[in-house]
Amino acid sequence: MTSPTQNDPSSNEIHGIIKRKHLFIESELPKEGWIQTCFLCGTDATSHLLDYTTIKDYERYSNSNVYYDLNIAIHTCPRCSKKLKKDRMYNRRTRRLINEYIRTNIYSKFIGR
Ligand SMILES: [Zn+2]
Repeated sequence: MTSPTQNDPSSNEIHGIIKRKHLFIESELPKEGWIQTCFLCGTDATSHLLDYTTIKDYERYSNSNVYYDLNIAIHTCPRCSKKLKKDRMYNRRTRRLINEYIRTNIYSKFIGR
């Protein structure tokens, strides 16, 4: 397989660009705002983001063969953040659920390119 960036003269400029996606529970809060409802408990609003993962070569720029990476960060309230750090069982279970969510809602788009 040839690299998708090889034939693109502008690849040096856009190589390594990362787009961001924030996961949160939808609420009456403005969608573009800093504060969103915690993705884990669905009750507390928070601006805190947990940097979760980055999917390499996620999607192609339109009219180009250059792919960008997608960084996924998750709105987690202080209570859930603390629980993730201290409760190993909760951490494992939560990561499994998050990975499942990413696989079905985000990654399926990625591998379907
Ligand atoms: Zn929470």
